[in-house]
Amino acid sequence: MGRVVVVTGGTRGIGKAISTVLQDKGYSVAANYAGNDQAAEQFRSETDIDVYKWDVGDYQTCMEGLEKIQSDLGPIEIIVNNAGITRDGMLHKLDVEQWNEVIRINLNSMYNMVRPVIDGMRERGFGRIINISSINGQKGQMGQTNYSAAKAGIIGFTKALAQETARKGITVNCIAPGYINTEMVAAVPEKVLESIIAQIPVGRLGTPDEIARCVAFLASDDAGFITGSTITANGGQYITG
Ligand code: NDP
Repeated sequence: MGRVVVVTGGTRGIGKAISTVLQDKGYSVAANYAGNDQAAEQFRSETDIDVYKWDVGDYQTCMEGLEKIQSDLGPIEIIVNNAGITRDGMLHKLDVEQWNEVIRINLNSMYNMVRPVIDGMRERGFGRIINISSINGQKGQMGQTNYSAAKAGIIGFTKALAQETARKGITVNCIAPGYINTEMVAAVPEKVLESIIAQIPVGRLGTPDEIARCVAFLASDDAGFITGSTITANGGQYITG
């Protein structure tokens, strides 16, 4: 059996592509999801990947879910923090619930998912932590103060943890996707989507598989010298150093 990897939000969209690409490469994959049982069951029957339902915004349920995966599959060596939500609105109209929910699920999940497994990774001298940020965490996006703050926070978390764990064989990296063709983007009104595509130099949305292949590279032994970095995968829409 290959290394055990947990993909949060691993049953739909980008996460689904990450789960299946890693499975194809021989990893032993566990896919977490929040509540869409129908999508999770369809994913499980298509891929034969085990699914685990819990809320990554809640520390206790993360501890329990990760414990269950370790007893089913063995020590967790790779975490892909992919689960994320949007609750958009201009700040002057944004409810405190919209703010808190995005920070809780998109940012607090970094701590919730990594804290329970970091000791094991340190003891074994190997780990890969791969966090999915966003172009909007790099450049900021009108109507997304909550999401941009959380996604920028993920980059800071990644840089700090990379320094803490570098001597322990654990790498911590981020991927910042641009606009990828998933349900999250399909929810954007057509006119807005047209204007987004017009700003992407390659002239199209990205595909979930293109992000999944970045994850597969960062998870591999080939990427052992890369830590604390952010791979920008956005078709040239926002070019950052
Ligand atoms: P989707 O909405 O298609 O899928 C989201 C996945 O996350 C689902 O599996 C969902 O589970 C899960 N999820 C949501 N909330 C929770 C939670 N509280 N606990 C556990 N799982 C949860 O999203 P995308 O594939 O589009 O996005 C994936 C990641 O990529 C996100 O972090 C997003 O911010 C980021 N991203 C996406 C971009 C895009 O263009 N799509 C661009 C840049 C970044 P369920 O099925 O049960 O709802």
